[in-house]
Parts: sequence; C-alpha cells; structure tokens
Amino acid sequence: MTHPAIEQPADLVARLRATFATGRTKPVEWRTGQLHRLRTMLTERGADLAAALHADLGKSSTEAYRTEIDFTIREIDHTLDHLQEWLRPEPAPVPAHLGADATAWTQYDPLGVVLVIAPWNYPAQLLLAPMVGALASGNAVVAKPSELAPATSAALAELIPAYLDTDAVAVVEGGVPETTALLAERFDHIFYTGNGTVGRIVMRAAAEHLTPVTLELGGKSPVFVDRDTDLDVVADRLARGKFLNAGQTCVAPDYVLADPETAAALETALVRAVETLFGADPAQSPEYGRIINERHFDRLSGLLGSGRVAVGGHSDRDAKYIAPTVLADVDPKSPVMQEEIFGLILPIVTVSGLDEAIDFINDRDKPLALYVFSESERTRDRIAAETSSGGLGHGLPLAHLTVSDLPFGGVGESGMGSYHGRWSIETFSHRKAVLAKPLR
Ligand code: NAD
Repeated sequence: MTHPAIEQPADLVARLRATFATGRTKPVEWRTGQLHRLRTMLTERGADLAAALHADLGKSSTEAYRTEIDFTIREIDHTLDHLQEWLRPEPAPVPAHLGADATAWTQYDPLGVVLVIAPWNYPAQLLLAPMVGALASGNAVVAKPSELAPATSAALAELIPAYLDTDAVAVVEGGVPETTALLAERFDHIFYTGNGTVGRIVMRAAAEHLTPVTLELGGKSPVFVDRDTDLDVVADRLARGKFLNAGQTCVAPDYVLADPETAAALETALVRAVETLFGADPAQSPEYGRIINERHFDRLSGLLGSGRVAVGGHSDRDAKYIAPTVLADVDPKSPVMQEEIFGLILPIVTVSGLDEAIDFINDRDKPLALYVFSESERTRDRIAAETSSGGLGHGLPLAHLTVSDLPFGGVGESGMGSYHGRWSIETFSHRKAVLAKPLR
C-alpha cells in the first residue's frame, strides 16, 4: 500500500539523481564520511539491530554481531583502509604509434543512482555490505530491505536516514508492489540478492533501461568428502557451517557427496558433532535460530522424508523449529535433492568416488560455493580444474566470504558479478579508459 506521505519512486530517484548531478557524492571525503557514519550507526545502534534480528530470525546476539553487524564493520574498515589506493588511476602501456609523449590510464567513475535489494536471511548485512561498496564508489543509493524480515527492515529504515546523507541515500520498505514500482525507474546499477526467479524479473526490468545488474543468487552448494580424511574435523566444520542461521545461508553446505564407506563413517561423526554443538535438545540451545516463516517451515518439513534420518527429524510448527537433521542414503532423485534446501537438513548422497562426484556436480547448475575436504592435493586440484562454482572452499565452509579481498559472487544459475572489498569498487564504478596526447 502506498502511503500518500511517502515519496513516489519517480520523485525519489529524481531527487537522488539531482544530488548526484551536483557532484556532492564524488569527493573521497564524502564517501569516507558516509562510511564513518555507517560505522557509527552500527556501533551506537548495533544492539537495536541485534534485537530486530532476534525478532525476525531468532538469531542469538553473538551470531547477529558476528555475521551481520561486526561483519559489516570489518567491510567498512577494510574499505576505509584501502579506498585511496583502490581509487588511484592505473597507468596502461601506450603503443609506439601514439608517440612517446602519450599516456593512458584507467580511472573509476561513480555510476549514479544505485538500487540495492536485499533478502531476509542476513537482512542487515546483505543490505549494508553492498551499500558500503556503492557509497565508497561515490554513488547515491536506494536501499530496499526484505519485507520478510520486518523488524530488521523497520530498524534499517529508521537508522539509515538518521545517520547517512538523506539527499543521497534512501530506504524504501515494502514487498513485491513497492519493488516492482522501484524497478520501473531508471537506475545506473541494480544489485540484487535473492532467488533466481526474482533475479530474472530484476534483469528484465533492468534491460528496459540498459541498467547493469549484479545478481547474488543461491542454489545447491555441494560438499565432497574424500576417503582418509579426519571425519571428526570434517563433521564439526560441516555442522557449524550448515546449521548457522538455522541453515538459511546462501553458501551453506547443501549436500554431501562421499563414497559409501566414508559416508557411513561421516554419518556417525555428524551425529556426534550435532550433539556436541547443540546438546541433546537443540530446541533449548540459545545459539540455534528459527525458520523465517511458516511457508519455509512447511517446505522444509516436506523434505524430511527424503532419506533415512540419522539425527534430528523433529519439528514444531508453532515455534518454527526444525531440529538439525542429517539424512543418509539419500536418492539423488528425491525431493531434497531437487531444490536449494536453505534450512537444517543435510543429505548425504553416495557416489563411487571422485570421478562420479565431479560428474554429479557438473550435471547440475553451477553452485554458489563448492566445498572439498581432502588430504590429496591431486583431488583438490582436479576439483578446482574440472568444476565451476562461484567460490571454492578447501577444508572450511563459508569462510571464503569473510576474506574481504576475495570477490564474492556466483556463476551461471548462482548469479553474476561480485563484491566485497575492492571488487565492490569494480561493481559500483565505471572503469573509464583515458588517453592523453599533448597538443604540442
Ligand atoms: P526474499 O524473499 O527476501 O527476496 C529478496 C528480495 O526480492 C526482497 O527484497 C523482496 O522484496 C524482493 N522481491 C521478492 N519478490 C519480488 C518480485 N516479484 N519482484 C521484485 N522484487 C521481489 O529472499 P529470497 O529470494 O527468499 O532469498 C533466499 C535466496 O537468496 C536463496 O536462494 C539464497 O541462496 C539467496 N541468497 C543469495 C545470497 C548471495 O549472496 N548470493 C545471499 C543470501 C541469499
């Protein structure tokens, strides 16, 4: 519903575009000033955001700080430390026919007005971390938080205008109608995080205005566990990675591939790891989050029958709680293997060995992340060379996205473009080619 007092999308974009046209967002001082203010917002009002994240997702305060608030602060600090260096024009060699006095370089230009659309699973971080890059690149920003995390959306809509330059930064709350209305406007870049169905809607709308897009999508991120690895270490790291945020992480390990012998031993190790991490009754663990809503709860409950339950399997609809669940003997044709799980279920699928695992991965959509646990360098090298994924993690799930100097993004069905650190500058700027030849 559009409130009459709320600025219409066309007016909003025109207003931010007018600010951009004055050149106000371009000086590095404005950019770093906004980043400092965003940092202050997170330090002064982090507790409010943590409370909102708890209301939306049952996130513990520890997890809210680690994966959203402090995560974004680290991204800001890294950007503040390096921005001047990243923005420096880069000389390019000049061919001889242009003469010895010609010079050439690339320089980064801000794009203009950028739209950032965020999902509900890390509803603060996934709105703010792209904004760090967009602001550091000198753009005006319209930020659209997810309506499925309403407390966080409301908190961000209150806090962002209280700290940032409201002539250049705006938050628009809402769901499909509001986002559809925004997408009708011309932006200079659209940065979308979410699912591939909406990704296609975003890309179609962007095509109308020839607006470039970054699509941070999801999909099934596989794990290959090799024989002769320390399965207690593997199980501990897998369980921590999978069950963070109740499994609602875009780069969560989605399913495990292993040979039958390894799969059987891993199953036992995973049962132990789940008990060690969450105790006998995970429902009582304050570190264990909840499913975002009934629709996702029902979807996940329907997947519990896709194999033999090794641990977990219980659920409580009123509490939107699903116990951390490991499914063994899972048929690749079963429902749990047809869609991104995005919840607390970890299926183990057996393959004959490395060759079949590589074929299995390559027969499906290119994943956002792929994880390998192997002591064999040859195995690690073969997977790196013979598969394609947004990111590749050896020995530790999720952690690659905390390395600010690595680009974070997908490939194929898992998305296009990337961000974090200087890769955000690449995404939110135009790399302008300049040639200079003296007149005399
Ligand atoms: P969501 O439902 O919150 O949707 C994301 C955004 O799209 C929201 O802001 C929503 O308002 C908007 N939206 C929804 N329907 C729309 C429509 N018809 N037209 C225009 N906008 C619309 O989140 P989701 O899609 O359920 O998020 C989960 C998915 O996101 C998973 O597939 C997950 O893997 C992926 N994801 C990817 C990343 C990444 O960084 N690559 C991170 C988190 C989540």
